[in-house]
Amino acid sequence: MKPLLALNWKLQKGPAEAFSWCRTLLEQLPDELPADVAVMAAAVSLDRVGNALRGSGVQWGAQDVSKHAKGAFTGETAAGWLNELDCTYVVIGHSERREYHFETDAIAGEKTAVAIRAGVKPILCVGEKLDVREAGNAESYTLTQLETALSWLTPEVLNTEFKGSLEWLTIAYEPIWAIGTGKTATPDDAENMGNAMRYWFVQRYGETANNLRLLYGGSVKPDNIKALCSRSNVDGALVGGASLELDSVVKMLEALK
Ligand code: PEP
Repeated sequence: MKPLLALNWKLQKGPAEAFSWCRTLLEQLPDELPADVAVMAAAVSLDRVGNALRGSGVQWGAQDVSKHAKGAFTGETAAGWLNELDCTYVVIGHSERREYHFETDAIAGEKTAVAIRAGVKPILCVGEKLDVREAGNAESYTLTQLETALSWLTPEVLNTEFKGSLEWLTIAYEPIWAIGTGKTATPDDAENMGNAMRYWFVQRYGETANNLRLLYGGSVKPDNIKALCSRSNVDGALVGGASLELDSVVKMLEALK
């Protein structure tokens, strides 16, 4: 499976900057990409990002979505509209949504199901705080997050929208203590969690779970991406800070060759 490099821009690039950044990126990319690349832009930038990237092979997506498909929910963005803007992905349950907007695993699960129903692939984020890791409970905590969120993937969602395949779903393991802090999990930490998640998925969904992408996120940058992504069950990275500069994105892609 080709790795996925998902660039999480957070609240850092508005429409005009996003458009010109994407155009310049296309000029600098090698002909053969060693990874699938997706730009996760702010909702208001998605139209411009799509205009810049359409037809290039680089994908795009949103950083959040409403758990409601439609209705009187001021300020929300519907998954169907992300589909209308040709978004391939949507990030769900990012730790910043959990911390500042009180999102729970259950809400992340509802959003995951809504996205899949609308034909947008969720990148569901999970991961523990430092005290949980130090207490030796990182794995059980993270697997419980998956258990709760994915209870929203009812047989109806799985059968109709997944079409029998878990390629629709991406999980990003993002230990909270490593996000934006410069502290990276070791390749062993990332691989151990990747292995535990893969085992959990295969037990639950069978062999199709081998098609699911498991990303690592947390202070990934050009000088550590290769060591992390060459491990088994680390099928790419969700990158925040190092996704903002073109130069560092090009370097990360070179490292993934
Ligand atoms: C993120 O925001 O998902 C993230 C991993 O950020 P950073 O790479 O800056 O740690």
